[in-house]
Amino acid sequence: MEERRDDCVLELERALDARGLRQTMPRRTILGVLAGMDRPFTSTELTEHVAKVDPRIGRASVYRLLQLLRGCGLVERLHGPATEAYVLCLLRDHHHHATCSVCGRAETFTLEDSASIERAVERIGYTMEHHVLEVVGVCPACRAAGHGAEVPQ
Ligand SMILES: [Zn+2]
Ligand SMILES: [Zn+2]
Ligand SMILES: [Zn+2]
Repeated sequence: MEERRDDCVLELERALDARGLRQTMPRRTILGVLAGMDRPFTSTELTEHVAKVDPRIGRASVYRLLQLLRGCGLVERLHGPATEAYVLCLLRDHHHHATCSVCGRAETFTLEDSASIERAVERIGYTMEHHVLEVVGVCPACRAAGHGAEVPQ
């Protein structure tokens, strides 16, 4: 787990370096915290986690890095069940996110084909360039714990 987290930080730093964004001191700390987030988070939650590691790092630094990472496509903004949230996502290929309405965890998934979406928008006279799709549901762990739809026997 620690190793995966370090890999993740390295990948984020490489991506920022490749864009000529200078290495600054709090960056590594924030990236380290970000890499350890196991579910989508708000910028306030991320700031609180960062402050536990280094109380000198304020909201402005956290928010600025978050926006840089969004610009690089390494952090995505989800809408989720209740509030907006950010998620660290290193996937490059087209994909979607499903968020659990009970525990807040998120997973990625892909559609077998997006032809039915294309057909649906053709009915209103559009040609599709791209689409954004996000699912809110109940994850397997929460279903097993008795939440949401019935668990199949
Ligand atoms: Zn993603
Ligand atoms: Zn899609
Ligand atoms: Zn869940």
